[in-house]
Amino acid sequence: MNKTCEIGSVCLPPIALLRKILVVLALVSTVAIARATPSDSPAPVSSATPLPAIEVHFSPGGECTAAIVREITGARQSIHLQAYSFTSAPIAQALVVAHRRGVAVTAILDRSNRTEKYSAADFLAHEKVDTYIDSQHAISHNKVMTIDHAIVITGSFNFTKAAEEKNAENLLIVRDRKIAAEYERNWDAHFKHSEYYPGR
Ligand SMILES: [Zn+2]
Repeated sequence: MNKTCEIGSVCLPPIALLRKILVVLALVSTVAIARATPSDSPAPVSSATPLPAIEVHFSPGGECTAAIVREITGARQSIHLQAYSFTSAPIAQALVVAHRRGVAVTAILDRSNRTEKYSAADFLAHEKVDTYIDSQHAISHNKVMTIDHAIVITGSFNFTKAAEEKNAENLLIVRDRKIAAEYERNWDAHFKHSEYYPGR
């Protein structure tokens, strides 16, 4: 008997112990290889995981502004927007950044933006984002963004700090090309009678 054997332990001669260890190692590696087989492993969760077809947010506390900024940041071709009250600095800044990297950004805003003290209209116009005013209605109350002809962002949510922090609002993000086309058609109709706004 090996003198390191203690009461209650299983004592094996060195060679038998080595064999036992090798058998255990072989079993462990077999299990590891089986687990790594793609057929029975779940799809990896990564940043490339597609976003849902429909996404909803509610204010206050619903990260509406963050969701809008995220979508603007992901735009590659075009952003067509309509806004009533527009004073949100993060949203206006994200639009300017998108414009600077070559995205065709065009804004149609309600006429109140001509006189509103903190309107984003002047900021956008000064940053050379194509900005238009639609004065053909009592109020141009749409709050819509269509991104890359594929994503529609809409709801009661005005692009303002108050909508994010103080109001009860809803925001819907729809990833659907057919619905985006419907909104683009309506945007085009308003664009035809809107006036270019150079800023104050
Ligand atoms: Zn119109």
